[in-house]
Amino acid sequence: MSDSYAPPVQRLVTELSKLPGVGNRTAQRLAFHILRASAQDASALAGAITDVKERIGLCEVCFNLTDERRCRICQDPRRDHELICVVEEPSDVIPMERTHEYRGVYHVLGGALSPIDGVDPEHLKIEQLLARAGASPGAVREVVLATNPTTTGEATALHIAEELRARAPQVTVTRLASGLPVGSDLEYADEVTLGKALAGRRAV
Ligand SMILES: [Zn+2]
Repeated sequence: MSDSYAPPVQRLVTELSKLPGVGNRTAQRLAFHILRASAQDASALAGAITDVKERIGLCEVCFNLTDERRCRICQDPRRDHELICVVEEPSDVIPMERTHEYRGVYHVLGGALSPIDGVDPEHLKIEQLLARAGASPGAVREVVLATNPTTTGEATALHIAEELRARAPQVTVTRLASGLPVGSDLEYADEVTLGKALAGRRAV
């Protein structure tokens, strides 16, 4: 990064380069684009960032992103509330919805178990899932474990399956069928593959 930029420009480039997939070169290009933009467009961008941080929180039921206490999926009476799909991140809900195969609700863990990185069960929304599944008999029929087909995602699915068997034995626990690209994220699966994986889910 060149020192020849005025400090405010340098600051913008530094902040932009923190975004995923944005290297220093792209950050500089974006910074110059913003500098050329109208004051109105530039403040619309800044405002959108501020707004999202102020107004978006986690759904009190499923921990998906929402600007209300409960997300739109949890509020929807047409969804099957006895069927819960467990995903790692809020971004994983989008590909599941794109399949149009899934009519249940979600539970967003907020990551995957990875003891080596210091991510233990208490750091994820696992206890909240067990409470949901075991709340009242018949409230939940099936839990689909749709964590990523990665080492940490598999370990997380295994841990949750064991806990559910102990805490909510009446609930059927399933895992997405293989066919998902191994080692990759749900986010990158196409809707046909993901739809098939969902349809072919198996008990664990
Ligand atoms: Zn929700």
